[in-house]
Amino acid sequence: MTVIVPTMGALHKGHQALIKRARELDKEVVVSIFVNPLQFSDATDLERYPRTPETDIQVATLAGATEVWFPNYEEIYPTDPVQISAGSVGDLYEGASRPGHFAGVLTVVNRLFEIVKPTAAVFGEKDFQQLWLIKNHFKKIEIDAVPTVREFDGLALSSRNIRLTESDRAAALIISKALNEPARMQEILATEPDFKLDYAEIIDEKTFQKASAITQHRRAIIAGWINGVRLLDNAVVETNS
Ligand code: AMP
Repeated sequence: MTVIVPTMGALHKGHQALIKRARELDKEVVVSIFVNPLQFSDATDLERYPRTPETDIQVATLAGATEVWFPNYEEIYPTDPVQISAGSVGDLYEGASRPGHFAGVLTVVNRLFEIVKPTAAVFGEKDFQQLWLIKNHFKKIEIDAVPTVREFDGLALSSRNIRLTESDRAAALIISKALNEPARMQEILATEPDFKLDYAEIIDEKTFQKASAITQHRRAIIAGWINGVRLLDNAVVETNS
């Protein structure tokens, strides 16, 4: 029996938390590292995506990976892939800004599952819409979710953070600040001139539609850019806020 932790590399403590969780589920943990071209709509973003294979092997092994797997393109897509549709939720939020992104994600995850045949897979809440779509699509494999790992000051760890300058990084803190006060998040985000908002919304966790007054499980989701670097984050909205 095997648990898989799919990643695109440039591994950090967030990925390590996923690998540790996977080790709690099983003694065989495959960490896949594959920068999937299908989920990038922007060629420059794909090209600039950080790649740190040597440290990734160390980081993954330290966290408990029993295999670190770097498949190549042909292994994943031996023939032209027929993409899996992500449905209507796949066109919202991240999907609206990145057309085809979630179809690319579901397609690669499906191939990884076909090859590795895991009993379970671990994903991060950091990419909440991705997690939602994966849970809804893959019903035969246990999908385990790990809460977002943050820096001491609240910034969600992301492979893309490498591309932030010191002042960008300071500006990025506006996102976790806004999540702490979901009723005022638009207003708070607007105070940071370096943050270019894509969306900030409170959604119903069950349906991924905009939350209403009677929604029980609500989550605030935010995405935008700082100096061209796309950042996203989310948090549970407590019922009294
Ligand atoms: P990526 O390598 O960015 O595609 O991410 C691989 C997996 O790690 C996905 O399931 C992400 O949701 C998860 N992940 C990324 N950042 C974090 C974080 N800060 N905390 C927890 N999980 C994360």
